[in-house]
Amino acid sequence: MQHLINTALVVGTFFFMEGVAWFTHKYIMHGILWTWHKSHHVKHPHTLERNDLFALVFSIPSIALIVAGYEIESLSWLKFVGFGILGYGIFYFVFHDVIVHRRIKIPFKAKSPYMKRIMNAHYVHHTVHSKEGAEAFGFLYAPKKYEKGAHPKPK
Ligand SMILES: [Zn+2]
Ligand SMILES: [Zn+2]
Repeated sequence: MQHLINTALVVGTFFFMEGVAWFTHKYIMHGILWTWHKSHHVKHPHTLERNDLFALVFSIPSIALIVAGYEIESLSWLKFVGFGILGYGIFYFVFHDVIVHRRIKIPFKAKSPYMKRIMNAHYVHHTVHSKEGAEAFGFLYAPKKYEKGAHPKPK
């Protein structure tokens, strides 16, 4: 039974994090912290972007929860929430930074309709280079309207 609860905590946190990421992207990154996120919406020759600071910020609650979960016996469940955030971070990095933006060169070609849809949604997001007016703020989930063909792919 405990295994089931722990797994549910990890998986639940993982899905919840897509909501957190969507909210942060829409209202914080394209809001008060556009000064960080802007670096991700312009072309540049650098390896790192100021936008990468968000990954660092999101790693803090994850690390803190995992450490607390191992250190405080009565709060041991916290580590599973931390693992959920960590898991989301890994999936986010592989999808967003590797598969979509190819910061690591891999010969990957999307085949599944799901992958094509979320990739296309993020390309649509990048057709807008400004703080205002962007759409498709999610990462691992995209509504049906972003199915490939609904929008042209940006250069
Ligand atoms: Zn954005
Ligand atoms: Zn992007």
